[in-house]
Amino acid sequence: MNKIPATAPESPKMPILRVPPPAPAQPGSNRFDMEDIFHALNLGVCVVDDCGKILLWNNWIAKHSNIKEAEALNQQLEKVFTEPVSPAFLAALKNTLTYRLPVVLSTALHRAPLPLYNAHGTQQQTRMYQSITITPIQSQLSESCCLIQITDSSPSIKREKILRSHSEILKKEATTDSLTDICNRRFFDAHYEMAVADAKRRKHSLSVFMVDIDFFKSYNDYYGHMAGDNVIKLVANALKSQLSRATDIVARYGGEEFVLVMPHLPQQVAEQFAEKLRNAVLNLEIPHLKSRPFNQITISIGLYTGIPGNGDSLLNKADVALYQAKLKGRNRYISLPLCETEEYLEQ
Ligand code: GH3
Ligand code: MG
Ligand code: MG
Repeated sequence: MNKIPATAPESPKMPILRVPPPAPAQPGSNRFDMEDIFHALNLGVCVVDDCGKILLWNNWIAKHSNIKEAEALNQQLEKVFTEPVSPAFLAALKNTLTYRLPVVLSTALHRAPLPLYNAHGTQQQTRMYQSITITPIQSQLSESCCLIQITDSSPSIKREKILRSHSEILKKEATTDSLTDICNRRFFDAHYEMAVADAKRRKHSLSVFMVDIDFFKSYNDYYGHMAGDNVIKLVANALKSQLSRATDIVARYGGEEFVLVMPHLPQQVAEQFAEKLRNAVLNLEIPHLKSRPFNQITISIGLYTGIPGNGDSLLNKADVALYQAKLKGRNRYISLPLCETEEYLEQ
């Protein structure tokens, strides 16, 4: 039986390879070539002397300006570019060189001071949005210089634009009626409150028109709800098309009811306008066989014009007028004088 040797047989003599221990980590800048870092930075770095002559120009600027380091060095900064540099940038540089104070050119005010681009050679070239800092420094030879740092703010501007457009869409959705695209009740309530406060303070009149489509239930029953929706849209458009002043609004008050508020109209002019509204809807000539005797879509309007006082509700008064227009046969406007309205309110 073979015996296992107590010790392993001696291996042939091999030279012992000694791996040198890793060099102890050098602290700080000695570990790297600073020039490599300067050129690898993901921001533009440029140094100019007190005459504006370029002393340093890193790869980032070379890439985004399409001007190589060798072409830029020793050139005047404003002359190295083929396109103009913004006057604000030149003024800021001059100030930093003169007064030795740092300057920040924010993207908000100075979108693209230098002719830098994200992609050269593409068809659509728009300047990169930039954020620029100019800092006074001294060279090792005690020359006064400026360090110019440039970052690309295009991504944040893009984000900001997207956020702004989202918030505008949300704001529009919150104040617009989705069926008719005119103002909704929420917007109207806020606007009405302000219009009343303004009219009270300045003691001017406000005209409120309450508008209601006649026999609309029977229209829906006969022609269907979708056709009814379409009529609401057409009527909203017809009402809106009559407005021309920025201070006037039309809103969907609810269902097949609309409300218009217009300041500074003498009662007679407001009445003429109510007639214009009624005719605008009549001219749509939408057949409505269940509306007797008109046989087409019509509206009734309650109008009240007055200076709002304490406890007054112009809306209530316009509503009372609308009720009267319905009672008197529809397809008409009723404009109530103040005393008459008070009587109706008491009934
Ligand atoms: P009047 O002439 O007295 O105003 O009679 P009317 O039938 O118009 O009034 P009523 O209040 O009895 O009916 C209003 C109808 O409006 C009932 C409801 O179905 C309809 N309506 C409300 N909102 C909408 C809507 O958004 N779309 C459609 N298609 N119909 C609506
Ligand atoms: Mg109604
Ligand atoms: Mg109605």
